[in-house]
Amino acid sequence: MSERDYIKDKKRIVIKIGSSSLVHAETGDLNLVRIEKLVRIITDQCNEGKEVVLVSSGAIAVGIKALGLSKRPDHKAGEQACAAVGQARLMMVYQKLFAEYLRTAAQILMTKNTMIDPESRHNARSTFDELLKMGVVPIVNENDTVSTDEIEFGDNDTLSAIVAALVHADLLILLTDKDGLYTDDPGKNPDAKFIDTVDVIDDNILAMGKGAGSSVGKGGMSTKISAARIATDSGADMIITNADDMNKLGDVLEGKHIGTLFKAHKNINFHLIDYISQNETKQ
Ligand code: GLU
Repeated sequence: MSERDYIKDKKRIVIKIGSSSLVHAETGDLNLVRIEKLVRIITDQCNEGKEVVLVSSGAIAVGIKALGLSKRPDHKAGEQACAAVGQARLMMVYQKLFAEYLRTAAQILMTKNTMIDPESRHNARSTFDELLKMGVVPIVNENDTVSTDEIEFGDNDTLSAIVAALVHADLLILLTDKDGLYTDDPGKNPDAKFIDTVDVIDDNILAMGKGAGSSVGKGGMSTKISAARIATDSGADMIITNADDMNKLGDVLEGKHIGTLFKAHKNINFHLIDYISQNETKQ
């Protein structure tokens, strides 16, 4: 029996997948086999009676390909145009795959304003609750098309943790292109050691998060550690794991010992809005 056995009893789960995990590195085109497996695993979790929210990046990456651009535009309006085209295409693929498994998916696009304004926050929470009660899988992204620097979360690691706190999830899983957290960048330092479990996010852990994101997504390890702080303070466990083999997601959900686990430690003074304001001052 694994000491992570309890993970299989989680009821409300947020799963986040980053852009670099959704596309083939060589071409930038969608990795359909991987996405299909993700959808099948999520649907099966729902079939077991669990509630799952998917936070998916990829709008800009898919839009870049759809518009035949060779690289990410270097101006905001260009990125926003890519997101407008890409988000719709991405949802078309998700809708098709979820429909094949007889599961209904919904789209929720958010900006930071959705969370700052108490009425919108309340409405967003009620909508999530309603959809989850109906057995629908909400698929969330930042509303990149209208977001501005002032109202953007900026990265979906943070957004997924905020969503986890908003819906009172008990588990957040970040699917990425690394096996988890290392003491240093394993690509550059062969002596970097894998961190299995994080009980407390101290300065030592924060220092391990330094490093850039990928060429297509915005998050790096440091945004994942910030996400862990929000998620674990809100009472959810968080696991970072590799999306390269989607079967590992199934294993994580069965309580197998895979990826880095950040342990939940409910903070009785947790007020989601404080974390959103903190995030705001960082920009
Ligand atoms: N919202 C962005 C997109 O869908 C991704 C942000 C991120 O990579 O974290 O393209």
